[in-house]
Formats: sequence, C-alpha cells, structure tokens
Amino acid sequence: MRLLGSIVLLLVVGSALAYKTYSGYQVLKTAPLTPNVMPYINKMSRIYDFWGTPVVGRPATVMVSPEEASVVNAAFNRLRISHEIMIEDLAPIVEKDFAEQERLMRAIPRQPRVAVYDRYMTYDEINAHVHETIAANPSVASLVDLGLSTEGRELHGIKLSNGAAGQPTVWFDCAIHAREWIAPPVCLRIIDEVLADPALRDLADWYVLPVANPDGYSFSTTDSRFWRKTRRPNPGSTCVGTDPNRNFDFLWDSAGAYCDETFPGSSAFSEPECAGIGNFIAANADSLVLYVALHSYGSLILYPFGHTIEPVPNADDLFAAGQKSADVIASVSGTVYSVENSAAGLYFTFGASDDYAYGIGAAGYAYTYELPGGGLAGFNPPPSRIQGVVDETWPGLKTLVEYTIANPTFPILPTKK
Ligand SMILES: [Zn+2]
Repeated sequence: MRLLGSIVLLLVVGSALAYKTYSGYQVLKTAPLTPNVMPYINKMSRIYDFWGTPVVGRPATVMVSPEEASVVNAAFNRLRISHEIMIEDLAPIVEKDFAEQERLMRAIPRQPRVAVYDRYMTYDEINAHVHETIAANPSVASLVDLGLSTEGRELHGIKLSNGAAGQPTVWFDCAIHAREWIAPPVCLRIIDEVLADPALRDLADWYVLPVANPDGYSFSTTDSRFWRKTRRPNPGSTCVGTDPNRNFDFLWDSAGAYCDETFPGSSAFSEPECAGIGNFIAANADSLVLYVALHSYGSLILYPFGHTIEPVPNADDLFAAGQKSADVIASVSGTVYSVENSAAGLYFTFGASDDYAYGIGAAGYAYTYELPGGGLAGFNPPPSRIQGVVDETWPGLKTLVEYTIANPTFPILPTKK
C-alpha cells in the first residue's frame, strides 16, 4: 500500500512537472479597439495568441511569450493602440490552476452516468460518461460516431431522440478549441436536460458532441493549459496542430504558417475532427435546423458570415433568435451577451464551423456562442463558476431551440425545405 502511495505521489508530481509553466508569459490588454486598427489586429491575430474574439469597441487581450512581448508592444505602439499588462506572469496562475484541478480530481471522483459540474472533467471521463449514458438509456440515446482524432481518440457524441421519423435536428459541439474548458460542461448539461424531458425530444432530435477536439483538449489538461489547436504534426515543423475552427470546407483560406495560432491546415478538412463533424453536418442537411458551436470567451452570440460584413439574406432571423436566447440568459443571471454578425467587429475569419453549416445550406440558423470568461485570467473560470455558467446558458439554448423550430428560416442555398 505504501509502495502504491509512493507511485501515486510520483505520478502526481511527475505530471505537475510536465506542464508547460508559461513562465514569463504576459497577457496584454488594449484600449477598446477602433475600426481603423482592425486590419492590423486581423493580421496580428494570425500570428499571436489573442484570447477571445477581437471586437470593435471592446478591449482585446493577447498572450505573449517573453520573446514576443517586445515585438507585440512595439506593434501596438506603432499603431497607437494603448495597452497595459493585464497579467504580468502567467506561471503562478497556471500552477495554481493545475494544483486546484488535481486536488479536485482527488476530492470529487466521477460517478457513473453523472456529469460533474464542480470541477473540469478530463476527456477520458467525458467520453466514458457519454458511453455509459448511451448504454443506460438505449431507447432514447444512441452513439454518434464521427471517427477518430489524429491521436486515435474517439470522436463520439450522443443522439437523443424519441424515435419519431422526420424530426427536425439540432446540433451542439463543444471545445473544438482545446483550452475552452467551460464549453464541455454546457454540452453535458444539454444531455442531462434532454434525457430527462421527453417534451424536448418531441421538439427535435438532439445531437451533442461534448469534446470536438479530443487531442487538443487532453493536451490542454495535461501539458499546456492554453493550447488551442489540434495535435496533428506539421511536416518539417516543430509547431504542431491546426486551428480547427479555420479548417472547415467553406471558403477555406490557405493563408497561414504552421506556427500561427490560426493556421488553417494544409487543406480544408485536413483535420479528421473537422472532417468528421463536417461530413455529419452535410449528411444531415435535410433535417438540420440549428447548428451551435460552443466556445469561450467573450459573452458573444455570433452568426454567419465571418468573412464579410455584408449581411446574409436571413440575418434578421439569425439576430432575432440569438437575441431571444441572450434575453433569457440575461433574465436568469444578469449576464449580458452581445448578438453580432461574426465579422461585424471587423475581425474576419474563414473556414469556421458555423459558416460551414450555414454556407453549405445545411442549417438556416447557425451560431458560435462565446461563453463568459473567467475575469482576469480569461480562459480560467474557476471550477466554482462552472455551475453558474451552465445554469444560465442552458435556458438560453433551450429557448434558441424552441424559437428556431417554431420560426423556420432558410440558409443561403435554396436547396432544401
Ligand atoms: Zn474558440
């Protein structure tokens, strides 16, 4: 027993030492962005690690390594973007986060078929939860098998259905950006609620993918807290991974270098995770009413397109449904979401998943939800905040489903409905 204890201790210490420490990494915060600086912010955001979506009228935050700090500071100065140091050194924050996570892992063991909301779950725990939930509810839950990630992890989601034919379908995916840990608990809450309420299953067939980037998510929980991309190696480069939310096969843009935070991949759907999701969306285009990707952070509800500020034909419908959802969230908790066209902030993106679902004509309603952040430390809402975020987000998503089912709209391609 003592030997076992020593091994456990060694494993804990060993894993702690394996973390990227982020020693000397800073987070800079700008003054609210003005429209004239956005072209430069767009360029900088390809290379440097901006946290959240840069939006006109709001401050932007960017994480810089010790080597990057002087370059980014000089660029901001040249552009006359006033800025300050929001976090002087990320190392103690990361260390505290991982220590707290390890403490909670020991203190709060996962129970079979029960999602945990008072600490962050690992990918393995979430995947086990999905499988157990399906096995325990065979009449309403079934496996959505989207294949394997680059490192061989299962890309397994869950379908919840009363089994009626011809139902409209709604889709939710979480944490396609690895570090956005606050998203999977929201996906798990959707599963809890829809499992418990037959009326929700009468409304639609629900598809939920709690971890859309299993390799990256796992890496962010064991090695590198602020990892964003997938984990597929890039030939001849030490920089690993692709930004999966630039890799979808709709207006995919090849511009980008391997080391860029938003590297779009060697080709559209080069990432098996994106191809798995994209193929599923395309195959279910006839029934899909609503596509939602859950990200963090920024308290934003974004709708297509990301590459242009030209409004899509049903922009009014997209805005109205998003605003309904935002109103409900505000009424629950006071958290204020801003509902915007993805590019309205003049931050342009290509190959994003919601643009794909909308742009190929699969879903007339498509959104990216940027869930709330964790205050000063951005991606680190403390575990004590998980329940609150989940509690306020679910009613907003439920309203979104009810509204979009009741108010049909049409994607840009008139090929369906
Ligand atoms: Zn994201």
